[in-house]
Amino acid sequence: MENGESKRWGFVANQGLNVASTFSIRGTLKMLMDAAAGQRSIIHLGQGDPSVFPCFRTSQIAEDAVADALRSAKFNSYAPPLGILPARRAIAEYLSNDLPYKLSPDDVFLTPGCKQSIDVVVSVLARPGANVLLPRPGFPHYEACAALNHLEVRHFDLLPEKGWEVDLDAVEALADENSVALVIVNPGNPCGNVFNYQHLEKIAETARRLGILVIADEVYGHLTFGSNPFVPMGVFGSTIPVLTFGSLSKRWMVPGWRLGWIVTSDPNGILKKTKGAVPRILGNTKDDFFKKIIDMFTQASEICYESIKSIDCITCPVKPEGSMFIMVKLNISLLEDIKDDTDFCLKLAKEESVIVLPGISVGLKNWLRITFAMELSSLKDAMERVRSFCQRHAKQQ
Ligand SMILES: *Cc1c(COP(=O)(O)O)cnc(C)c1O
Repeated sequence: MENGESKRWGFVANQGLNVASTFSIRGTLKMLMDAAAGQRSIIHLGQGDPSVFPCFRTSQIAEDAVADALRSAKFNSYAPPLGILPARRAIAEYLSNDLPYKLSPDDVFLTPGCKQSIDVVVSVLARPGANVLLPRPGFPHYEACAALNHLEVRHFDLLPEKGWEVDLDAVEALADENSVALVIVNPGNPCGNVFNYQHLEKIAETARRLGILVIADEVYGHLTFGSNPFVPMGVFGSTIPVLTFGSLSKRWMVPGWRLGWIVTSDPNGILKKTKGAVPRILGNTKDDFFKKIIDMFTQASEICYESIKSIDCITCPVKPEGSMFIMVKLNISLLEDIKDDTDFCLKLAKEESVIVLPGISVGLKNWLRITFAMELSSLKDAMERVRSFCQRHAKQQ
């Protein structure tokens, strides 16, 4: 093709895509899976999707609700842009249970999952010159969307020595008149931490002083099993405007169903009776179902935490109390032939067929993110493999 021609027809993609692709957890996990291929059975401690295990199957109530809605033939049409009213009403009601005021259906926007909630809001916030404050470590989809939309990112740290609380001094120092929002993920991915009421209040007060919106990613809402109960950021909706993200994906173990929401906190609203699949899923799921999941997560996090304690080259500064993840610090100096976290994960995949996410993928080099949401026997097996790997690669004293 001649130069002139290629110029005329040449297609130039959004350059933000290049940056965005470097934030892909899936890309990293695929690289590790490829490295592990052909070896013994692979145990995947890399991604947060326990729905593959029979013990984490969603509740029958949720399955029936969707099956009935499908067979009713009443939900085959295009839905209104913001989502059908009964679903929005049910989500408003579900979230209002934990708030000092009632949300209205008008505060709720349906999305095809929490990832799409992030897409939508980031693209709305990305006016020229604006910046957004993101946690480090964090959930890299925020960085990817910001890059795609040319929204500047500024990182504040989560502090392991303070149970992964937000470094609020850093937030104050980073923010300026072009800062539009501060993002928190609570319960935390990747740290498995749960913010207490007092800390959330301080975040709200800081955001108010700075005049910025708080975006609360609560996709792991209620998935807590430690001393801190889950408190939604919306509790501080009268201090500071809050956009809350959530979805069915994690609490109901159905990430493939793609149903999420964006909620604006608004202390007014009147709720009515509801119908359809979402109202049944949100309204009728029995506590037994949630309790069983939480019990399994509690046991799994204990197993994971205890095995980490018994392995020399990795330490966990904060025991996880929520979500499905634990952040673990890698002590490279104790290892013979391992360069960094990515090298560790690659060799672990090759030699032991265990997949773990390198911390660099979530913003912290030489850390690891381990998912403990899996069958306990596989988890124990995986942690044993990690232990023998670490022993084999330990420096001789
Ligand atoms: C899994 C996850 C999401 C995406 O949730 P979906 O509803 O499956 O799109 C968003 N934010 C965080 C922090 C997550 O871990």
